[in-house]
Amino acid sequence: MNGPEIFVSFAPALRLFVGAERRSGRTSVATDGVSTLGHVVESLGVPLTEAGRLLVDGRPVGVSHIPTAGEHVEVEGVIRPQQVPGAPLRFLLDVHLGTLARRLRLLGVDAAYESEDLGDPALAALSAKEQRVMLSRDRGLLRRRELWAGAYIYSDRPDEQLRDVLERFAPPLAPWSRCTACNGVLTEADKDSVREQLEQGTERTYDVFAQCTACERVYWRGAHHARLDAIVSEAMREFGGAAA
Ligand SMILES: [Zn+2]
Repeated sequence: MNGPEIFVSFAPALRLFVGAERRSGRTSVATDGVSTLGHVVESLGVPLTEAGRLLVDGRPVGVSHIPTAGEHVEVEGVIRPQQVPGAPLRFLLDVHLGTLARRLRLLGVDAAYESEDLGDPALAALSAKEQRVMLSRDRGLLRRRELWAGAYIYSDRPDEQLRDVLERFAPPLAPWSRCTACNGVLTEADKDSVREQLEQGTERTYDVFAQCTACERVYWRGAHHARLDAIVSEAMREFGGAAA
């Protein structure tokens, strides 16, 4: 491109997406005179899901703004907690985020996930159809125009991923209300109605039962939940206020 030259700087949170030469402050970019600012930002490596306000000479503009010569552009990060207007907050996770999906479900957050890889076009279409925020570490997927909304997952460690999503979107938390296996809603079940699905030791030892309204899996509170209990209490301590 050898059209109008503009000057671009990125918020510190976005610098991991851009080339090393653009990480320390304002740099020049040669545009083509017809591409939108959204396209220019994406072409420099930043998914638009991660961009907050775009400021041109200090004034906010939309992604469809066509840059002209000499403009100074600042690309801000998203404001946390991020609002996603238009539908109840729910998520769709790509095939690499199974652990995060189960942890979100454990906290009662609606988190759709398929363990087989549907492919980017099908995932994007599903995000649009069900109005789910697409969570992924794949920038190509997050660039797809069909997405309802999306968010880049910054860490590859599930505990950091969970904290990131809870901090970014502040979803209401309702632990032990959703099936970690299928994302279905749990309902209370009494021991008689689920007796034939229980092993004998379980039947004797545990009394609190819940059952998934979608896949009929039975849940009970027991000693093997210590690790999950720890995840729940940590999340509630830090982010449980949003549920009130
Ligand atoms: Zn289920």
